[in-house]
Amino acid sequence: MESAGVQEDAGRAGDGGEATVSPAVRKSMQGNKRRDTRPELIMRELLRAAGLNGYRLDWKVKGHPDIAWPGKKVALFVNGCFWHRCPHCHPSMPRSNVEYWTLKFERNKRRDAETILTLQQEGWKVHVVWECQLKPANRDRTCKRLFPTLARELGKSLRQ
Ligand SMILES: [Zn+2]
Repeated sequence: MESAGVQEDAGRAGDGGEATVSPAVRKSMQGNKRRDTRPELIMRELLRAAGLNGYRLDWKVKGHPDIAWPGKKVALFVNGCFWHRCPHCHPSMPRSNVEYWTLKFERNKRRDAETILTLQQEGWKVHVVWECQLKPANRDRTCKRLFPTLARELGKSLRQ
């Protein structure tokens, strides 16, 4: 983890050098993003079940939203609670290398905020769903809160 963080710093400084780094490092530079995480798969399944399909994955705009409807400029991030520092479940802080982690988390949070702001300025509607909101006990509530808005923005009707 330490070395990935260092590489991330090096890569971020230039921002133009992405072509010269390995896929692993590039992935690390994109904020520890992994594709098809379990919460993402759950979210996609819920969306399909509700009739909110037609989305694209990792669309090529700022922040590469996990799920996006580019034609409607609607983006949905599925955030891991630990990496993105969930405001709902307050994930634990590693006990060693506290300084390193504090810095890293601050950077992740700042990057998330910048990404959302940039997308909004470009006319996107941005939604964030947290990993903990997709746990079995919370799923229904999350869908009830989010899906009517999404449906309206997408011009779709919800499948009940
Ligand atoms: Zn959480």
